[in-house]
Amino acid sequence: MELSIIASGSNGNCYLLQSGKTSVLFDAGKSCRETAERMAALGKDIREVKGIVLSHAHGDHYRGIGPIARRLGIPVYVRKPVYLACRQGLGPVDVRHFEDAFRIGDLEILPIETSHDVASCGFVVGRFGIFTDTGCVTVQMREIISDLDAVLIESNYDERMLKTGPYPLHLKERIASDRGHLSNEDASDFIRRYGDHLSQVFLAHLSETNNSADKVRETFESFNEDRPYVVCSRFRQTGTFRIA
Ligand SMILES: [Zn+2]
Ligand SMILES: [Zn+2]
Repeated sequence: MELSIIASGSNGNCYLLQSGKTSVLFDAGKSCRETAERMAALGKDIREVKGIVLSHAHGDHYRGIGPIARRLGIPVYVRKPVYLACRQGLGPVDVRHFEDAFRIGDLEILPIETSHDVASCGFVVGRFGIFTDTGCVTVQMREIISDLDAVLIESNYDERMLKTGPYPLHLKERIASDRGHLSNEDASDFIRRYGDHLSQVFLAHLSETNNSADKVRETFESFNEDRPYVVCSRFRQTGTFRIA
């Protein structure tokens, strides 16, 4: 299976998974045009995408979905409460609801419980996990990680930068809560405790205001020494990676 990180960060998230003849986008928080351009820069053709899977109803995850789905004539896979929360924003699309494991072509997709301020989920596809937008490590995340070879996990904010930064108090509290986002420390500690066997770690969904790639690196290396990892770029496509 191949992972292409098209966009990652609080300004837009989009991941492409490809296996055999199946290409699927997970979230699409950038415009149709920017998504297509970033994919082309990685040698990928957006017209090969067979479906889009949505994790939750925040604009940085669904903003591009309506236009992409209509342009390509492809279905959107979404849990019912998530669809109800963003149906206006999606506009008319071919909706397929899921609750449990489902299949798109060669990809077997398992939703995983996350903890956010709206209905949300992560995903396990094969031996790869996508865990973003969660204020804490859920029991299901902790249990399933032993079955995985590769994980893309949110490393959203530096705890000190959030505390001393410009956000209003209520927003700081929301982000740091169990239904907000994972800090660099949370993500690095999760990998140190439970991810010793992983062959690939992608640190994702960095905040613009409360984080930097340097802070992510510094924290991850202090917890995990010389373990290899990739920090996903907020500014451009990060790359294509062969994963389990
Ligand atoms: Zn997000
Ligand atoms: Zn979110």
